[in-house]
Amino acid sequence: MFKKLLLVLFIAVLGLSAVLLYNTFRFPSAPAPRQALQISGINDSAALHLSEALQIKTVSFGDTLAIDTAEFVKIRSFLESTYPAVHTQLPRMIFSEFSYVFTWKGKDTTLAPYVLMAHMDVVPVEAVAESKWSVPSFSGKILKDTIWGRGAVDDKASVIGIFEAVEQLLKENFQPQRTIYLCFGHDEEITGRRGAAKIAQWFKENNIKPQLVVDEGGMVDTEKFKKSGRPVAVIGVGEKGYCNIDLTVEIPGGHSSMPVQETAIDVLNKAIAKIRAQQMPGRITPPVQEMLGRIAAIDEFTTKLGVSNQWLLSGSIISMMEKDKQTNAMVHTTLVPTIVKAGIKDNVIPTVAKATFNSRILPGETSDDVVAFVKKVVNDDRVQVKKQTISLFEPSATTSTSHPMFLKVEEAVYKTVPNVHVTPYLIVGATDSRYFRPFSDAVLNFAPMRDAKGFHGIDERIAVSDLKDMIFFYRLLVTEK
Ligand SMILES: [Zn+2]
Repeated sequence: MFKKLLLVLFIAVLGLSAVLLYNTFRFPSAPAPRQALQISGINDSAALHLSEALQIKTVSFGDTLAIDTAEFVKIRSFLESTYPAVHTQLPRMIFSEFSYVFTWKGKDTTLAPYVLMAHMDVVPVEAVAESKWSVPSFSGKILKDTIWGRGAVDDKASVIGIFEAVEQLLKENFQPQRTIYLCFGHDEEITGRRGAAKIAQWFKENNIKPQLVVDEGGMVDTEKFKKSGRPVAVIGVGEKGYCNIDLTVEIPGGHSSMPVQETAIDVLNKAIAKIRAQQMPGRITPPVQEMLGRIAAIDEFTTKLGVSNQWLLSGSIISMMEKDKQTNAMVHTTLVPTIVKAGIKDNVIPTVAKATFNSRILPGETSDDVVAFVKKVVNDDRVQVKKQTISLFEPSATTSTSHPMFLKVEEAVYKTVPNVHVTPYLIVGATDSRYFRPFSDAVLNFAPMRDAKGFHGIDERIAVSDLKDMIFFYRLLVTEK
């Protein structure tokens, strides 16, 4: 009897292994590497222009009173004098004083337009971080074929990239087939509400539905998949939602010399700990599914095995992705406390304690789902849970990889980056382009810079060669069919 059981078990394991291996070996391999085009149409001064732009301190502060508007006037004058063809030939609209839209009329105005966008503002450099920079953070120094400074990768290289490409094409008397709008926001780092939101609203009011919107987000990674010998370009095809959830506890306070059993702070603390102790359920959404498939095509055997046998192994794939904060954010709606407030004096027990959780919501879930999850986990009537309506964004619809505009951008990437392998991905942050997502079905986030360094951190910098690739990429988007 025992022997028989063992035999059955052995056959079952053998059968299962055969199915797993069959699926793995049947898995389609990656498209063959392609040669890129010879980069052309680049002005030699492009790097100097980016260097100059980085010296202008267009810093966005959460406290808007701290914003130095003179710097935003400065960047406007800089752009006007550096890109005269753009400024004399393309009409400019101004939104909220410092955001701009240039209209480049196409030969056929019946065609839906393209939008190329980027933002001119940057995040601040903390005083304690300044001394850790290898060069002063707003120096725009060019050292060893690299341009250094706050905003180098986020997002002034895109601003300069778009201007350089268009200025050059105007000098060549090029006119695009369809109309192209160049959109530059000035407050992306503080929600984009005055810039990109107003710009998108103008498009909506004028019933202009862009065929394609290209904004910051995806880049080229040459490190993660080194073994494959191919750089991997990730194109953002959708964004997670954004929501702030307030937790408030009110319990009469008193003198700190005679504390009650549980104060408002204690109750709030427990609620925070409960929420942090678990995550909303993990899920593989369509763009992540597509990403996994494309990555598996060039990655190791074990990745292929997992991805080609998701009917059995999706749980293990999610667990693997949970180990890294970046990939974890791709399979979970996240929740993290970002503001905690209570107390006014050291010897007074406060009556009110408040916490704000920032949540990034996976496509397929809503802010109401997040609120329901928080209430269920906290399970304490003394904790009021309420979502903020300001800055609330439900997750966006995603652009399919079979959409002609995805194929167009993908083709431009092939032509710019030699031997590149391309995959879509889900953006876990938030960009200005989210304002366009409700009325354009192809909003894609990408610029061909490699392994961006110092993004929102120390020693932000970009290689001169990357800047040239970016200019070429924008040129291709405009000139190619
Ligand atoms: Zn940015």
